[in-house]
Amino acid sequence: LDASLTQSSKMAALGKLAAGVAHEVNNPLAIIMEKAGWMRDLLSEEDIKGSPNFKEYEDAVQKIEFHVRRAKDVTHRLLGFARRMDPLRDDINVNILLDQTKSFLENEASFRNIEIMTDYDRGLPCITSDASQLQQVFLNILDNAIDAIDKDGVITVTTRHDKEAGAVVIAIADTGKGMPKEVAEKIFDPFFTTKKVGEGTGLGLTISYSIIEKLGGKIVLHSVEGKGTTFTITLPVS
Ligand code: ADP
Repeated sequence: LDASLTQSSKMAALGKLAAGVAHEVNNPLAIIMEKAGWMRDLLSEEDIKGSPNFKEYEDAVQKIEFHVRRAKDVTHRLLGFARRMDPLRDDINVNILLDQTKSFLENEASFRNIEIMTDYDRGLPCITSDASQLQQVFLNILDNAIDAIDKDGVITVTTRHDKEAGAVVIAIADTGKGMPKEVAEKIFDPFFTTKKVGEGTGLGLTISYSIIEKLGGKIVLHSVEGKGTTFTITLPVS
């Protein structure tokens, strides 16, 4: 209970931070965009068109606009996360959703000689949940599993109906590098990543955690350094 309380307050803090940053960054971006528009207007004037540096001016304005759009995309995503909508209520067959998610990653996996095996409970009851949010969680975890293996290994996806708990249990196990305790303790923290700049944002599992929590479920992990990691998600059957 303690751990999940801490995680909830971290999520709330991240939501506030994200909204604050997005707001603070959006204002200067709007001004930069407006000035770029003004420069673009200047470039359409005849005497500038004849300038020997015209191409460079035009290129500079284009780059400013392109990168401002990129930055706006980031702030947009942060705001989307901060105000994440209430989950939808779809009727989901988890086995089918997992198969779909798996098919997105099949190319990348086979390229790295990673086999994604499945062991499904065919009698799994449907659950009422948000399919696209749940799929995002599966994608994040499978993506991380592929990264943890890097080359040559197996990912096993298992589903099971826990009748006593009234829950569907999904386990995603990889034969990757695993993680030490110090890393395992931090993986749900916002912006925590061990990946290179540009390869990881450290938001994947933070967002996954908050999605599963909103869906009324639980997510836990078990990891052994040098052996692999298993993520287990429990979702209530309504
Ligand atoms: P990112 O993937 O962008 O780094 P995540 O929040 O998805 O962000 O993951 C945070 C960190 O957790 C990763 O950088 C990695 O160190 C660790 N991690 C996540 N999944 C695994 C896994 N299956 N095996 C080993 N380490 C993992």
